Amino acid sequence: MLAKVITNERLAESHGPQDKGFEDQYRVKAVNGVLRSDKHFFFEDAQIVDDATLSLVHSRAHVDRIAAASARAKDTPEGYVSLGHEAWAYSGTWDAARAMAGGCIQGVDSLLRTKEVSTVIVTGRSPGHHAEDMKTMGYCFLSNVALAATYANRTYGARIGILDMDIHQGNGTESIVRGNSSINLFDMYMVGRYQYPYPDYPLPDLLPNIRRLPLAAGTSGSKFLEVARSEVFPSMARLNPDLIVVSFGLDCMENDPVGGFKLSPAHIREVVSDLMSMRTPLLFVMEGGYSKKNLEDGFQELVTSVRQNINRPTH
Ligand SMILES: [Zn+2]
Repeated sequence: MLAKVITNERLAESHGPQDKGFEDQYRVKAVNGVLRSDKHFFFEDAQIVDDATLSLVHSRAHVDRIAAASARAKDTPEGYVSLGHEAWAYSGTWDAARAMAGGCIQGVDSLLRTKEVSTVIVTGRSPGHHAEDMKTMGYCFLSNVALAATYANRTYGARIGILDMDIHQGNGTESIVRGNSSINLFDMYMVGRYQYPYPDYPLPDLLPNIRRLPLAAGTSGSKFLEVARSEVFPSMARLNPDLIVVSFGLDCMENDPVGGFKLSPAHIREVVSDLMSMRTPLLFVMEGGYSKKNLEDGFQELVTSVRQNINRPTH
């Protein structure tokens, strides 16, 4: 087994389209199609996360609000309930979101408890990096990456480095991990066209464990790599974390319909290879990316990088 893929593809079928189909099931099918083409990638079904684990990062009120919206969605004329801020709950949303979060927990256990693999890829829906403690937004309901990092820290005493490479700012992840000195977040995101959260969204004061790296719309792949190699990877290496979690959003690739950076598949390969060269357990968690071709090409580069780096020992 080269790597483990944990997916909620089946449950995500009944989590309906977000924003008229930008975030929809075609995304999961596309990336899983690529990952299944390598017989050395072992697939596992994501399981629904339990309430106690979820309470590490989300309040009871947040959890109850999504569950209630999902429960009444099928009785509405539209078949969904809007939870505001661009998040629509369907009848299957609650189970899908909890399985996506559960898949992240399974991934952490595979990397830090059983240590059966050194790379885990969690695919599915809903994405998570915009979901704050009390807020669903930007197609996100539960804060998957923040949960994975918090769980790894609480359960295994692990120190965690997070790279958020989705083109949008990981406000949800940041809101939850800020102030936790065992978890360091490096967030590369776009300002300008298609900035999200929107430019008037209030950002909290920076804390030492948060590194925001805003880049202008139109940033080239080589500039993105240059910033990652000067501002992210050396600091990540100095931190020497026990686990690296990646918000693997491919809307940073060129021609994404809501993007604005110009990363090619080759740039994705470079980023992933640099992460793998750190010889640290890696958890890739699917976030945004709304071009089917980019999703397929980007995940193919991830597969290729895993194959090329598999013989490197991890600590
Ligand atoms: Zn995004």
